[in-house]
Amino acid sequence: MQPSKLIGGIAIALFATAAAAQQYPTKPVTIVVPFAAGGPTDTVARSVGQAMEKTLGTNVIVENKPGAGGTIGVADVARAPADGYRILIHHIGMATAPALYRKLPFDPLKDLDYVGLINDVPMTLLVRTTLPVNNAKELTAYVKQNKDKTTLANAGIGAASHLCGLLFQQAIETDLTTVPYKGTAPAITDLIGGQVDILCDQTTNTTEQIKAGKVKALVLTAPKRLESLKDLPTAAEAGLPGFELSIWHGMYAPKNTPKPVLDKLVAALQVALKDPALNKRFADLGATTVTADRQTPEGLGKHLKAEIDKWAPIIKKAGVYAD
Ligand code: ASP
Repeated sequence: MQPSKLIGGIAIALFATAAAAQQYPTKPVTIVVPFAAGGPTDTVARSVGQAMEKTLGTNVIVENKPGAGGTIGVADVARAPADGYRILIHHIGMATAPALYRKLPFDPLKDLDYVGLINDVPMTLLVRTTLPVNNAKELTAYVKQNKDKTTLANAGIGAASHLCGLLFQQAIETDLTTVPYKGTAPAITDLIGGQVDILCDQTTNTTEQIKAGKVKALVLTAPKRLESLKDLPTAAEAGLPGFELSIWHGMYAPKNTPKPVLDKLVAALQVALKDPALNKRFADLGATTVTADRQTPEGLGKHLKAEIDKWAPIIKKAGVYAD
């Protein structure tokens, strides 16, 4: 091709991309959730996505892409076209995966654009209702006596439930057999059915099950009790100081998403996070929306970096890796 035609072709393509970015969105936006439908990450994504629809003026669809502790879904979005139509909501796993995976198919600090930080959610340590324990002390004694037959469910290496399980095993200095699922929605179904013994999961997935008496909750991984689960003791109250963990969610887009597109996503997220119905739903499920100054790309980038630095040495000490 002649150089002048090539340059002309590039100019037309750039013009078309810029025009598409200005008009964004002209079709539905998909939020990828890297875990199974019906679980806590899914719940946050569906609530936030719905609250963004009005500002974006289009439908927001959730697509579940579970597997490998959330890393498959992240890699999917990192490789997607950077046009704002395929974005991601993920949790703390974005910060722990670099220390857990020997070969991670993305770099959280290089391969994604940040839209904003969403919320903080504590976790709850649950057991099946038929397990003969009623508090953390009894659970610890039971687990130590029945180490070989006690099972701990999680959503794969890199999931929040995996991290919480690691911290629990460290706190009681006992290794358990873990059972991985594609998300904690199927894991809690098996806990309710009695197929597994223990699960640590976000309050966004467990509050209703605890209130319905379908699982026994023993510990809240937060320094303060929750209004929505008043009777649940904190880790310190339960005799497990240090067993504290707060799960946060962030929204991401593929790297090099055009600025006008990213700006629209950032604005829509910030409007959504002010929505009273969304905030009530979060509060009922034990989640707290982060303050406005953190609902920004910078807020998410700063928090992600701090969390990567925080968890790397803890995970290294635990000696857990995945290939
Ligand atoms: N809460 C889960 C975890 O990270 C994931 C999910 O199913 O949303 O363990």
